Order: sequence, then structure tokens, then C-alpha cells
Amino acid sequence: MRNGWIRGGAAWVGVGMIWGGVGETVAAVESPAAPAQSLILFIGDGVDDHQLTIARNYLFGNVAAADGFSFDRFDARAAAVVQTVSEQDGVTPVYVGDSASGGTAIAAGTVTSRGRIATTARTDRDVPTVLELAQAAGLRTGLVTTSSITDATPASFVAHIALRYCEGPGDMAGMRGGVRTGCPDDVSTAGGPGSIAEQIAASGVDVLLGGGTKPFSQPTASGETPLQAARAAGYSVVEDRAGLLGADAKRPLLGLFGPGTLPVEWAAQGGAQAEPVRVSATGEIVYPEAQTCVPNPDFGNRPTLEEMTRKAIELLGADGARFFLMVESASIDKQAHARQACGQIGETQALDRSVQAALDFAETHPETALLVASDHGHAAQIVPIPSMFAALPPMLGPQLPPGRVAVVKMPRGGVMGVSYGSNQGYAEEHTGTQTPVFGQGPGTESVRGLIRQADLFDVMRRALGLEVSPPQP
Ligand code: MG
Ligand code: ZN
Repeated sequence: MRNGWIRGGAAWVGVGMIWGGVGETVAAVESPAAPAQSLILFIGDGVDDHQLTIARNYLFGNVAAADGFSFDRFDARAAAVVQTVSEQDGVTPVYVGDSASGGTAIAAGTVTSRGRIATTARTDRDVPTVLELAQAAGLRTGLVTTSSITDATPASFVAHIALRYCEGPGDMAGMRGGVRTGCPDDVSTAGGPGSIAEQIAASGVDVLLGGGTKPFSQPTASGETPLQAARAAGYSVVEDRAGLLGADAKRPLLGLFGPGTLPVEWAAQGGAQAEPVRVSATGEIVYPEAQTCVPNPDFGNRPTLEEMTRKAIELLGADGARFFLMVESASIDKQAHARQACGQIGETQALDRSVQAALDFAETHPETALLVASDHGHAAQIVPIPSMFAALPPMLGPQLPPGRVAVVKMPRGGVMGVSYGSNQGYAEEHTGTQTPVFGQGPGTESVRGLIRQADLFDVMRRALGLEVSPPQP
């Protein structure tokens, strides 16, 4: 959190504000040559080509772009390499990222260590994000997610903190797994900007939709909760679908639809789980019984990602205003950690439907740029099922994959074997593959070939004509 940034009460100071970092000064100014009026960035958390193929096979069949996801038909396509470095020295490459390092690379163009939110590895310096540059240039801004709004992906666009797990005032001293313990330098009584929820409450972002009543209800040392701070800053707060659909653009909107990660849209019928493949007493390879994907009975009274996206676009784009919006389908990742193939597929469909909502807006607002990106790869992969090996000589079969397998009944017939084999512990882990990027609309032409995640920051700020000026004496 080492910084000298000037924050103007509940909102960043407007156009031309100075980001006074340590020994450097960066001014955000709006360029008149912005090719795009507005930009909507979608992040599928944990999405790689395998996760996309699993969902596309189920939802559309093994089809070409014309019959696949809405974003399969985008004009621009690239692969982004994931870049992360060690926290110990700030330079040694690490080959598997997380949502904090990936989010920071995309949001701020800075390669950092796992767990960090828009701060530099080792030196803990705040780095400005595309959302903040957009805000400083007078654009409206929004963040929409199916996780807590304080989770790593949305936080990377709006907060600056040493560790992603410092979501609420009560989490600042907490330790989760790694070597860093909490965020002592960021505590507000130590002169820091506070937890992620406190920073969001003071952000001035116009539309904030997701989960997060838990971190927003924790009191700070002064006794005030981030939720009270958000209300005092002028936010209208809604906590269910009806509240969201009835919201208007008169005041900034904070929608918190659950304590943390929101329930997912799909589940396996009867709570079926991915299971190890086993060998029977007679030497036969036995795969888990095929599972059927059904609507999640516990979805509850919360808006879908598509509904949140449509409302955010309606509020931000009212009166022809310019805006930057980030929409995340967060639980593609979280369901992959939990080895829930049906859950992953449903959340990927939610991503696709949200992109379609943006395409509907772009239809009447063609100066809107759309990007679909991802923060890191994940564990699930499509594997053969034993029947495919039945006619092969013994040295080519039988197939006995490690880890756990979900056999999914497919709507067009047959089954799909989805293997989870990255970790024998309670949850799967991320993988280090390059991630897919899709682009459409003005300013997205440079989305092609092999790029770095951090290049997306430049793609976005150029599309919106947001300039980071060189350091001044
Ligand atoms: Mg995320
Ligand atoms: Zn994850």
C-alpha cells in the first residue's frame, strides 16, 4: 500500500488528477481520439480452452463458431500468457497464477505475485487500474460478479492491498495458507486505505453488484461498517433481485445478494460428485455413474449474472454516458476447485448469456468495445471413457486416470468424461496454461496472436483513450 495517491473523499478527484506514487507522477487525462465510447470487459475466472470446450460440448455440441458461444463469433481472438512473479524477490517467474495476480495484470498492466491486489510484488507499491483511469477521465464505472464484490477479481480493479484475503475489516490480521499474514500496513488506523470492503465503499464506483454482506458488515476500529460507510457516501443498497430490477440511476448502486460467493445456476442431480476411477475385484475398470446436470435447487432469490449485467449496462449507459464495466463469472473457477462439472458448465453459460446482453447493447451502440478474458487456467480436462479402449490391445488400455472423474450425461447423447487430477487434497488447483481472449468493437483490433495478460490493460486504456503520462520531474 505504499503510495501517495490523492483520494477525494468518497470519490477519486476528476480529470487530470495526479497519481503521486513514490518518485513518480502519473496523470490520467482523457484523449479526444478514443476509438471506443465505452468498454465492457468480461472475465471468466479460471477459463482456459479446456474449460470452454467442456461447456461448449454440453451446451452446443462440438460445433464451429457460428453455433457456439456468443463470443466465439467475435472478430478478434488471441491467447494470453499468464505472468506471475515471486513475492520474495519480485522477479523470479512463477508459472501458475491466481485471480489476484491475473486480475492485477489485466486491470493494471502490472505483473505481480500471487495474492496481491493492484500492488507490486515485494515493494508493495500501488498501481493505478483501468477503472481508476476511466473514473478520473469522467467515465461511469461498474463491477459485476457472482463472487463477493470483495473477491480478488473485482478487487483488482478498485482496491490496493497486499493480500486478497483482507476482504473486510475483520480479515486484516488473518492468515490463509501462504507466508504473508494479513495486511498490517493497510489497516486504516495505521494510515492505510483499509480492507477491500472499506476501499470499495470509498471508491465512488457507480454500480457494484455481487455478494459480500459478510465483509461489508464487519466493523472497523471506529465501529463503522463498510456498509454504513457506503450508505453515508450516497450508495443505494439492494439485497435481492426485486431491489436490483427496481433500482434507478439517481444514486450509485451497491447490490449485495449474499454473504460471499453467490449460489451457482446448475448442479449435478442428487448432489453427485466426481469420484476416483476404481478397479473391481475381477480387474475391470469401473468409472463413476453418469451424472445429470439440473438447475441448482439452492439458487434462491438472487439475480442471475445476465440480469446483473443488463441492469449495470442500463444504469451506466443511461443518457449516452461513457462507461467502463467489468463483469465476472467467478464460479467457473470455484466449481472447478470443487470438481463440479455441471456447476462449471452452468456458470460458463451464465458468462455467455451476459456477453449476449452486452452484444444486445452494442447492436444499438456500435462504438462499444467488448473483451472476454481469463485470469488463469484450471484443472478440468476432457478424458476418454473406458469403452473407447474396449477394442484396443491391452498395452493401449485400459485407461485408469488419477484423481477424480465426473461422467456427464450429454443432451445430444453419449457421455463426457471430465477429469480432475491436479490435487489429491480437498480441492483442485489452477493450472499454468495460456488463456483465451476474445474482442469485438473499436480498439480491440490488437487482440491477436500471442499476447501477455498485462497487454490487455493497454488495449483497454487505448480503446477508451485513457493516457498514463510519463513521470514528471
Ligand atoms: Mg474471480
Ligand atoms: Zn481459483
